[in-house]
Order: sequence, then C-alpha cells, then structure tokens
Amino acid sequence: MTYKCQICGREIDEFASIAHIKAEEYLIELIRRDHPEWKKEHDTCHKCVEYYRKLVKDAEI
Ligand SMILES: [Zn+2]
Repeated sequence: MTYKCQICGREIDEFASIAHIKAEEYLIELIRRDHPEWKKEHDTCHKCVEYYRKLVKDAEI
C-alpha cells in the first residue's frame, strides 16, 4: 500500500506517513503557511515533515 505525499507528490510507503506530527502545532502551522490545502490527517512523506521540522528548529534558535 502506498500513498501520495500532499506536499511533494512523491509516492510514499505507509510507514513513512505522519501519525507522529499531531502534537506539533507549530510544525502544522508552518506547513499550512506554504500549503493552505494541507491536512494533517492526510499523507505527507517523512522527507517533507523533516524539512519543516528543521525550519521550526532553526526558527526557535
Ligand atoms: Zn513529500
């Protein structure tokens, strides 16, 4: 079973989706700023999540 990432459009495996993003409100906000249609319940690949997680980290310093 594969999904399509909402952000980059890549095909992704089920295990790479984003169940763990839910508590990260700032991360969600940041993704929505670039991708207003993005929904946390839908599929996003690990690569995109890590990209935004890094932006959050950089912004906090
Ligand atoms: Zn992606």
